[in-house]
Amino acid sequence: MAAAEEKEKVNANGVPLFKHAVTKLDSEMDKEVIYEFGGPVGVCAMMLGFPSLMYYFWVCLEYHQGKLITPASYSIEGIQSFVFNDIIQKVITGAFPHFLAVKIYMGFVLYSAVCAYTLPGPVIEGLGLPSLKGKKLKYLCNGLTYWYLTLFLSAVFHYTGIFRLTLIAENFGSIMSVAIIWGFTMSTLVYVISGIMGKHHRMSGNFFYDFFMGACLNPRIGHLDLKMWAETRVPWPVLFYISVSCALKQYETKGYISAPAAFMVLAHFLYVNACQKGEECIITSWDIFYEKDGFMLMFWNMAGVPFTYCMSSVYLMKYEQSTGITISHSLPYTIFLFTVLLVGYYVFDTGNSQKNRFRMEQNGSFMTRNAFPQLPWGHIKNPSYIRTEHGNLLLTSGWWGIARKPHYTADLMMSISWGLITGFGSFLPYFYFCFFVCVLTHRVSRDMERCAKKYGKDWDRYCERVPYIFIPYVF
Ligand code: NDP
Repeated sequence: MAAAEEKEKVNANGVPLFKHAVTKLDSEMDKEVIYEFGGPVGVCAMMLGFPSLMYYFWVCLEYHQGKLITPASYSIEGIQSFVFNDIIQKVITGAFPHFLAVKIYMGFVLYSAVCAYTLPGPVIEGLGLPSLKGKKLKYLCNGLTYWYLTLFLSAVFHYTGIFRLTLIAENFGSIMSVAIIWGFTMSTLVYVISGIMGKHHRMSGNFFYDFFMGACLNPRIGHLDLKMWAETRVPWPVLFYISVSCALKQYETKGYISAPAAFMVLAHFLYVNACQKGEECIITSWDIFYEKDGFMLMFWNMAGVPFTYCMSSVYLMKYEQSTGITISHSLPYTIFLFTVLLVGYYVFDTGNSQKNRFRMEQNGSFMTRNAFPQLPWGHIKNPSYIRTEHGNLLLTSGWWGIARKPHYTADLMMSISWGLITGFGSFLPYFYFCFFVCVLTHRVSRDMERCAKKYGKDWDRYCERVPYIFIPYVF
């Protein structure tokens, strides 16, 4: 009833303000432990599998022009020789985490944390957290200042020779090793310290599963929210700089930057720019509101995202270095892919923005920012929505009137373009797309289940009103 009364307060855009009073169901769902990802066995396989796969891919890129290598024989000796001689030996010699790699990667991690702590930016309230009895945490959103400062400093450092950005591509394997070690170290530190401080939340009781999913919901050092920082400030900028580094390496050796290399720089620029300019929107996202800060998020953000999503850029560079041939395509094919990327980006940006700004309006935390680019249709005027008994509103205007996950479709469009721009010589540039299809399909089923439980018959009404998930009239 209290929620119903609050709904009467409507802002200038016609969106009712809802103070996110935590319901009994919210609290129950927030505490509920469900084994996902195959439970303890599945998560152990992933914790061992992620780094192994990253090293395997690295060997394929570094020594085999991106071809997927296999053992010469499937006998025990053949497999042993493959693992030790073809993988481990090469990793030890070619991807050793030497001091320069530590300085580059950890220097950036530290720099980004100091920026996140100190730079100016608006302070935005998150959603009311069931585990804190509805309390809203505050987030210092200085991502944009950090991003512009980083672009400026990196350009100055590169051109003055203080830090040549090509060093990243030259030491790629070693920097990746440092990132992998840091991913494990940070997950362990946060897990142990959360335990010491008694900040456990939604624990299953199985050590491996809890380590993977995390112990603490919102680990913080002062006002620095570690989960928010790890989601936005490290993975995407590192990914962008890997692509910049590969393109500069090409420029250094060939004297030009090819269209595919420029495409990858643009693609990664758009992604990282979107994360920084729309940082305040991320606060209402599922990762920040619900997921704990465990190995899954930390390792993937610190190591997995930058060092597997970059394979298109690294492949283009390595292929050229080992064959002397620059990958290029016909003009119509290139224009087509730039169009796919930009259209995908437009829907991704405006789709996320439409929903998150709508949620911020309900939360009373909506603000306009002059971050570039503010695309048309990013904020819906007088939106239509479905009222739920829970109190939350479900948006049915804009892209959200056309499909239930329009931003996933757009993200997938971009990811396939990252592969297609490299041609068809290797599977590795397509790994991101394949992996992402699995991630998003899994996320959709988790999310739909959660929403069906949370909103009951109102969710059914919403699904009737917006029947398609990804593509209207198709699926
Ligand atoms: P979503 O943006 O899909 O958020 C899901 C939540 O939004 C739901 O649980 C529900 O929350 C709320 N919601 C759903 N439909 C509506 C609606 N019509 N109106 C209002 N609220 C609604 O979550 P993600 O965090 O998965 O995705 C955000 C972006 O991040 C996407 O673009 C995705 O592609 C991208 N992403 C990228 C990854 C990468 O590795 N590149 C990985 C994961 C995501 P509630 O219960 O509070 O109502």
